[in-house]
Amino acid sequence: MTVLVTGGAGFIGGHTVLALLDRGETPVVLDDLSTGTRAAVPAGVPLHVGDVGDAALVSHLIREYHIEGILHFAAKIGVPGLAADPLDYHMANARKTRALLQAAVRADVKHFIFSSTAAVYGNPDVVPIPETATPKPVSPYARSKLMSEQMLADAGMASGLRYVALRYFNVAGADPKGRHGQSIPGATRLIKVALEAALGRRSHMSIYGFDYPTPDGTCVRDYIHVSDLAEAHLVALDHLRCGGASRVLNCGYGRGYSVKEVVHAARMVAGTEFEVRHAPRRAGDMASAVVNTDNLSGLGWKPELNDLPTMIEHAYRWEQGLAASGPLRQLRLRLLDHTAKAGDARRPRSTKPIPHEATDLRRTQSGPQT
Ligand code: UDP
Repeated sequence: MTVLVTGGAGFIGGHTVLALLDRGETPVVLDDLSTGTRAAVPAGVPLHVGDVGDAALVSHLIREYHIEGILHFAAKIGVPGLAADPLDYHMANARKTRALLQAAVRADVKHFIFSSTAAVYGNPDVVPIPETATPKPVSPYARSKLMSEQMLADAGMASGLRYVALRYFNVAGADPKGRHGQSIPGATRLIKVALEAALGRRSHMSIYGFDYPTPDGTCVRDYIHVSDLAEAHLVALDHLRCGGASRVLNCGYGRGYSVKEVVHAARMVAGTEFEVRHAPRRAGDMASAVVNTDNLSGLGWKPELNDLPTMIEHAYRWEQGLAASGPLRQLRLRLLDHTAKAGDARRPRSTKPIPHEATDLRRTQSGPQT
C-alpha cells in the first residue's frame, strides 16, 4: 500500500522509509530538504521536494499516488539551549500540520501517524511517564507538537481519520545495515557529540551539569534506537489498518541512562579516551526523562536493539563512514540539495518527483555500508 512520508529525507523519517521498504510497502516522500538530504531517500522511492504546508501539493500527491496513510515527520526540531523564534515553531509545526491534516481529511485519507515528542510532558511528576500524565510543555517546540496532537484529535472526531501520535525523547543509533544515520552538521545531541569527540572531529565534549537529583548527578534519558522507533511507526500503522482506535503512545525503552553512562559507553565503543569537560547546567534540561511504554508493547511492538552499546556502536559506524566520506563529498551533497531546492523554488508546485541525480554519488555519500 502507498503511504506518504513527510520528512522522509530526515533522520527518523528516513529510517522509517527503509523499514517500509524492507517489508514491501510503497513509500512516497515529501520533504523540503531543509535538514534532510536526498541521499537519505533510497533509489526508486519518489521524492517530492516541497512544503508539507502546501495543501494543494499534498492533495495532488494523495490523488496521484492513491495515498492510504500519512506518516508525518516533517517538523522544525527543538534545538536545546538555543533561543529560536517561538513563532517559527508554530508556523513550521502546528500551522503546517493543520494544512496537511486538512488535505488528508478532504481526500478521505484514513490513517495518520504523527511524530510527536515526549517533551509535551514538561517536568512530569511521575517517572517513567505514562501517557495519562497531564501535558505541561515548557518550550514552544513542545507546545507546537501538543497543538498538532490536539488538531489531530479534533480532526479525528469530525471525520473518518484515525491516528496514532507517538511521543518519544532521545532517538539515537543508525541503520544496522549502514544505509542511513544522522548527517546534519552542528550536532547538539549527546551521543553524536560524544562520537564526534571520539573521532577527533571535536577537541573535547562537555557534560552539562553534575548536580542533578539523579544517582550520579547527571541527567538521565530514555534513548531509543532509531530502527526500533521506525518499527514502532509500522506497528502503529498496522494497528490503524486493523481498525484500531486512535491512540497517543509513548515510545522508548522505559530505561534511563545518565550522561556519564553514555559517555562511558561511547569511550568503550570507540576505544578512546576523548576529553570530557564539566560545564554548567544547560537551560531547559530536565533531570530525568523516561517513558512508560506498556501501551505500545501491548500493540505488539518488540524492540530488538534496546541496549546502549548497540545503539552507540551503530551510530559510531555511521560516524566513521561520514568521516571517511570526506569534506569534498559532503560539499557535493550539499550542492546537490541546493540545486534541487533552487529548481523547486522556480517550480513551486511539483507534480513529478525530483529525479535522483547521480545514483553512484548518492551511494558513496549515504554513509557506510556493512
Ligand atoms: N548533554 C551533554 N553534553 C552535550 C550534549 C548533551 O551533557 O554535548 C546532555 C544534556 O544536557 C542532556 C542529555 O545530555 O542532559 C541529553 O541531551 P540531548 O541534547 O542529547 O537530548 P535532549 O534530552 O535535550 O532532547
